[in-house]
Amino acid sequence: MKRNTGVVLLAEQALHETGAHPENSRRLPPVIERLRGSPEWPQLHVLEPKAAEFTDLLRVHSEPQVELVRDSVRNAPTWIDGDTPVGPSSLEVALKAAGAGMTAVDAVATGEADGPASLFALIRPPGHHATTDRAMGFCLFNNAAVAARYARDRYGLERVAILDWDVHHGNGTQDIFWSDPATLFISLHQWPLYPGSGWLDEVGAGDGRGFTVNLPMPPGSGDREHLEAMDRIVEPLIEAYRPELLIVSAGQDGHAADQLASQMITAEGYMLLAERSAVMADRLGIGLVALHEGGYNLETLPQLDHSVLAGLGGYEVDLEEPFSLSGAGSAAWKERLEEILGVQRQFWDL
Ligand SMILES: [Zn+2]
Repeated sequence: MKRNTGVVLLAEQALHETGAHPENSRRLPPVIERLRGSPEWPQLHVLEPKAAEFTDLLRVHSEPQVELVRDSVRNAPTWIDGDTPVGPSSLEVALKAAGAGMTAVDAVATGEADGPASLFALIRPPGHHATTDRAMGFCLFNNAAVAARYARDRYGLERVAILDWDVHHGNGTQDIFWSDPATLFISLHQWPLYPGSGWLDEVGAGDGRGFTVNLPMPPGSGDREHLEAMDRIVEPLIEAYRPELLIVSAGQDGHAADQLASQMITAEGYMLLAERSAVMADRLGIGLVALHEGGYNLETLPQLDHSVLAGLGGYEVDLEEPFSLSGAGSAAWKERLEEILGVQRQFWDL
């Protein structure tokens, strides 16, 4: 293993009961089973999450938002919106999911020689659609935003970068940090797709202008397009921003076999996205916290999450799927990339 890494496991995840929903309690157990059976398991750091307090949530959410989730859970089972079910124990699990990012921040922030350089929190419910005022899109609280603001308050960090490679736009994270230059938010997502936001001209406002970066990727985009986005935009921007912590909203629902989108990323593509991110964090001398977001194909998710962890740790993993730079791809990407560069050159030296 080239880089110390590990996982934060949410033992209570099955208590967030959503029934026959794509975001369900059957997603994570096979992932964990696969990791436990892998040769690297004994070398991984394995942590349990603390629960977030309401004050941690209120750094990024309004009081009515937190109260709505709490009241919905009291009336469970019910739905917060047409996509977002809650059960009687969902609040308890959501507080642990939000706390998992904080636990991971604590572990990577200490910078101890034998500590983890990165951690992958295997959590649900996901978080990146939850806005300041709204739980939506399977998300109750914004786990990545809670972790970022916790890191700033607890460790005095002045700059945190959040890279969101979930196939859906991280509208919630964008909303929370829209006017805030202390968080650089970069989202790679399929366009058009749920929730409908994330066009390339959405760049933040006020002091935060230029610190929200959207890369709307045409449908059919695969490894080549996503790696080119990393090369041409994501990595140069993060290097220039010089964050003190990198948080990744790691949703693997851009995989070719995922039923919720039409992107063509392979398992090795996810390994490479994670590896690029971890190598960059290493170069910057900062910790990396990856938080699980989407990924809905129960058969492929274990190897995708394993690929992400292998990329973070820099170790080899057997992938059942051959990596191919040819084949899948998007003819519309080249022009789109130039358009995105045109917008971003207002703010960054690219
Ligand atoms: Zn997603």
